[in-house]
Amino acid sequence: MSDLTALTLKSALDGLEKKQFSSLELTNAFLANIEAANPRLNAYVVVTAEKARAMAKASDKRRKKNPGPLEGAPLGIKDLFCTEGVRTTACSNILGEFTPTYESSVTANLWRDGAVMLGKLNMDEFAMGSSNETSRFGPVINPWRRGNEDTNLTPGGSSGGSATATAADLCLGATATDTGGSIRQPAAFTGTVGVKPTYGRCSRWGIVAFASSLDQAGPIAKTVEDAAILLRSMAGHDPKDSTSLPVETPDFQQACGRSIRGLTIGVPEEYRMDGMPKEIEDLWAQGIEWAKAAGAKIKAISLKHTKYALPCYYIVAPAEASSNLARYDGMRYGARVQGKDLADSYEKTRAAGFGAEVQRRILIGTYVLSAGYYDAYYLRAQKVRARIAEDFRAAFEEVDAILTPATPSAAFALGEKSGDPVSMYLNDIFTVTANLAGLPGLALPAALDKKGLPLGLQVIGKALDEETVFAVAAALEKAADFKARPTNWWS
Ligand code: GLN
Repeated sequence: MSDLTALTLKSALDGLEKKQFSSLELTNAFLANIEAANPRLNAYVVVTAEKARAMAKASDKRRKKNPGPLEGAPLGIKDLFCTEGVRTTACSNILGEFTPTYESSVTANLWRDGAVMLGKLNMDEFAMGSSNETSRFGPVINPWRRGNEDTNLTPGGSSGGSATATAADLCLGATATDTGGSIRQPAAFTGTVGVKPTYGRCSRWGIVAFASSLDQAGPIAKTVEDAAILLRSMAGHDPKDSTSLPVETPDFQQACGRSIRGLTIGVPEEYRMDGMPKEIEDLWAQGIEWAKAAGAKIKAISLKHTKYALPCYYIVAPAEASSNLARYDGMRYGARVQGKDLADSYEKTRAAGFGAEVQRRILIGTYVLSAGYYDAYYLRAQKVRARIAEDFRAAFEEVDAILTPATPSAAFALGEKSGDPVSMYLNDIFTVTANLAGLPGLALPAALDKKGLPLGLQVIGKALDEETVFAVAAALEKAADFKARPTNWWS
């Protein structure tokens, strides 16, 4: 078989089970794709070819005895996840050649279930960004292009490597993280499916911290069902993370087959932003029609504090980041620039090690936490955050899920927004709310815009009710019948 890499995770797992091909064959096919594509797409920052082949061989042996749910499936791992013996830098210079001596809980869960690691995926530095342009390794390129133009577009961020690798058949699926939209926005920009689960569903242990009260891991995959399969393996209670929830992990894959007849889906009026492109409006209206046709009831709802979500996020996230990033001092691990004394070494290391966007976040975060401004900014943002969560709580008394667009636009060109942080931050307008409220959110591809670029819808659910999110998303996916693929210009 020549097009093994075009398979969905589900069909690859079926093929492996039926012994139509081995994990080693599948792994080699992906490694060949990566070698051909990576010089153009820049999705991988480390390719672990030897490790991948060894894991694939071990998986082929295990198949005879007791195969796991992801047995033999080659995956890409965002460079934010610590991987034992494999360089992990969060795509920041400050981590130098840091090679962890331990494995993150989420990736350990994947290997426990039989998956194979292809390598580490590019991302915005410390997951701060929406375009992958803040990576120390340079931007990732979106496999999608506008019509016949050859302008390079961003795959979004911060999980741009995960999105591009999944969209361009450089893995069956990938891990990603989402603090304000970093799973859902890149998924929307690349025609893939991204899920940010409920806060606490996946362990944060061994994931480089950005904003600890918002960070969640989740998958980027080719289909809703693939995302459900991956999330089931990634999730689970972990005593090593005190915010990990002590709950059972449901069978998300099964939930994809549930009917949505009789469910009520909320449409929040506040997400109808001024100046929203017509194509996004139309996509949303189309999504509503699809949900109705599948038997759901639609209800207009109000999430009153939505307009404060972005300003609130851009106080809370930098505040937590400034505190989390204080640990990078060049003393214990990562890169160090030697100064004349200790303080000078700290300063030189941090000045050289952190990129401009990360420095901006540290400055903002330190400012809003400083004694004179704490009440005016940080404390107030926490109050606003509570109101936003309360809006959702009230809405979920009346509806089972909420439908919104995933992003305010399709993928944009590299360089188009990198000089203007505020216009970059506006990308997260539909996604940050779910992080602030700790709720699950899923982005799925629903249509192409006039230039042929994918556009995504978002489904938001109640805390710990990813099952309804998967059911609604699977129904929309079926109705959208999104089959478009980027033309291969990269290999
Ligand atoms: N784009 C947002 C930011 O820059 C979200 C990033 C994320 O979810 N990691 O903060």
